[in-house]
Amino acid sequence: MEFETLAIHAGQKPDPTTGAIMTPVYLSSTYVQESPGKHKGYDYSRTSNPTRQALENNLAALEGGKFGLAFASGCAATTTIAHLLKSGDHLVCSDDVYGGTFRLFDKIIKNNGIDVTFVDLTVEGNLAKALKPTTKLVWLETPSNPMLKLVDIEATCKIAHEKKILVAVDNTFMSPYFQKPLRWGADIVCHSTTKFLNGHSDLVGGAIVTQDKALHEKLHFLQNSMGTQQATFDSWLVMRSTKTLAVRMRAHQENAMRIAQFLESHSKVSKVIYPGLRSHPQYALAQKQMTGFGGMITFIVKGGLPVARSFLEKVKIFALAESLGGVESLIEHPAIMTHASVPPENRKALGIDDGLIRLSVGIENVNDLLADLEQAFG
Ligand code: PLP
Repeated sequence: MEFETLAIHAGQKPDPTTGAIMTPVYLSSTYVQESPGKHKGYDYSRTSNPTRQALENNLAALEGGKFGLAFASGCAATTTIAHLLKSGDHLVCSDDVYGGTFRLFDKIIKNNGIDVTFVDLTVEGNLAKALKPTTKLVWLETPSNPMLKLVDIEATCKIAHEKKILVAVDNTFMSPYFQKPLRWGADIVCHSTTKFLNGHSDLVGGAIVTQDKALHEKLHFLQNSMGTQQATFDSWLVMRSTKTLAVRMRAHQENAMRIAQFLESHSKVSKVIYPGLRSHPQYALAQKQMTGFGGMITFIVKGGLPVARSFLEKVKIFALAESLGGVESLIEHPAIMTHASVPPENRKALGIDDGLIRLSVGIENVNDLLADLEQAFG
């Protein structure tokens, strides 16, 4: 089946008791057992819940994987994956990742005796140099947040798999509509479903999709043991949203392309980063591993922080807020907002300039969005 059809039907069937076309919200913490240990597949909702399971199966189908798990947040999914590692293990992480992922690996995971190396995985040869005999996991985000750098998933997996190292890809920015990391060899795909997958800025959630049963079972064991699972009603909301993922992603991309082109030709902008522009340094890789370029744009205004601040205060339709991937357009300043937890020297090395602004382009009418940006430059 094609993506749009899977998005609406995978993991779901009309309720056998009532015929309800939408999967019911099973608000039950526990389930009656016929005899001790004899039940209908559910015993306690932290372990498994029918509504959450429908979402998990839906997400697995969209990523082209076999097993899905839904989490309370993207960070809960990341934390659960990090617990595959034990003291003495080594983790290699791409250097430009969501600030909360950096904080988790740098401030918490390291304290548990796990060795972490942050490295620019866009540079050929860097991964091989960073690997150690104790490396167990390579973590990458592509496109990265906020610099929209791309990492070659296939090439990364080839190098890591030769040494039996797992590769996890945070696919939040592209969603499975535009990128399917499992197809390029990734072992684990993870998401902040808070973003494009849910798409309506009304919940916080996360997901993991895998192909391998043993790996899925380990992750499910961790999820159940640590209680990182998604609440039932929120699971239902994400499933409601994935039904429109394809149409939303197409609309995000169409608007983002127009806005990226507008910014690129604007005299007050010094740089625009969008994987769909030919000027993106990895445009060829974008063409290879993605089927579209998404709704995220990063650009640098001339004049640094004072100009960026004034611009951010003047926008009217773009809302000045953290997060991304909702139907409404958002704008933010990574150095002060989402990436404040990244030390200033690391931000500088990554190019997270004080004039850098990140847009999450929504699906409003693009002419209104263009007019809003133009007036904010004034
Ligand atoms: N991964 C990426 C790429 C993100 O942008 C975010 C949040 O912004 C996360 C993970 C963390 O997700 P959550 O906020 O749902 O915990």
